[in-house]
Amino acid sequence: MAYDPNNIFARILRGEIPCKKEYEDDFALAFHDINPQAPVHVLVIPKGAYENMTDFAERASDSEIGGLFRAVRKVSAQLGVDGPGYRMIANIGDDSGSEVPHLHIHICGGRKLGRMIPQD
Ligand code: AMP
Repeated sequence: MAYDPNNIFARILRGEIPCKKEYEDDFALAFHDINPQAPVHVLVIPKGAYENMTDFAERASDSEIGGLFRAVRKVSAQLGVDGPGYRMIANIGDDSGSEVPHLHIHICGGRKLGRMIPQD
């Protein structure tokens, strides 16, 4: 499936929609989730146009891949969750419930997070 350049995170990257920015460098932008699921809930996205982790792993350069993961590490330190711990989540495809077709890594923390996957 082709990347949709009008998805909401692409529009945030272009500055068309505001965000509560936490961190930015050449490779990544991090901003607070609009509907936080934990006391700390930040999204880290690559600056390049990648739909999800599959697309990113297949097409992104080693620099882009390294840059995104180093940004996650920097953001976790900046947020103070690297000590107590946090969870990274990257949803891919229908079964995951993914909503926005631009790769984003959720950083969730600030409390005990409980079971990794809710049982329903
Ligand atoms: P996912 O279900 O993994 O695709 O996650 C999408 C996330 O994006 C959800 O947690 C939403 O709350 C969040 N979200 C949607 N629109 C915005 C926005 N404009 N600013 C910040 N977060 C957003």
